[in-house]
Amino acid sequence: MFDATISRRIRLLGLDVDGVLTANDAWLGEIDGAKTELKRFDIQDGFGIRLLRGAGIEVAWVTGRASSSTSLRAEELNVTTVITVAPDRKVPAFEAVLTEKQIAWDEVAFVGDDIPDLPVLQRVALPIAVANARPEVKTACRYVTEARGGHGAVREVIDRLLRSRGEFDAAVARFFAGERQRA
Ligand SMILES: [Mg+2]
Repeated sequence: MFDATISRRIRLLGLDVDGVLTANDAWLGEIDGAKTELKRFDIQDGFGIRLLRGAGIEVAWVTGRASSSTSLRAEELNVTTVITVAPDRKVPAFEAVLTEKQIAWDEVAFVGDDIPDLPVLQRVALPIAVANARPEVKTACRYVTEARGGHGAVREVIDRLLRSRGEFDAAVARFFAGERQRA
């Protein structure tokens, strides 16, 4: 279980994309002569992101690899903060977003899998590694998920975060109330 004191002060969940929101795979090829990169995203992770934002916690994706698959998935989930930056520049890019949103490092949880994520993970209140993270990343993190990236790791983090804040049931109820409103 996440530490409730830390969980309650989290205002933003930062997610690395490759290896966290995906299983680290990218299919490269050509379709009708056009170079294409496809990625596979976990649908349960997506629902978790909806629940989390319903609970008032912001979500930011950080990626070192520009990809139309990532943009499409972010658009589908209404994730408007997608930071695409060189892998060695994640900290300044992420910090700029936090400054703009007036959120402190101490109010951030971040999920990563590889060495470029380390400088960000070392600054946040709640650093989390996925099950498939590199050993150096696991060592640097407070928690390691049971699920692998692209296979429910993000959903696991979100459920644990909401539960340790005592907000999970309310988030689910809010989702269904919203569905009724739209009907
Ligand atoms: Mg990664």
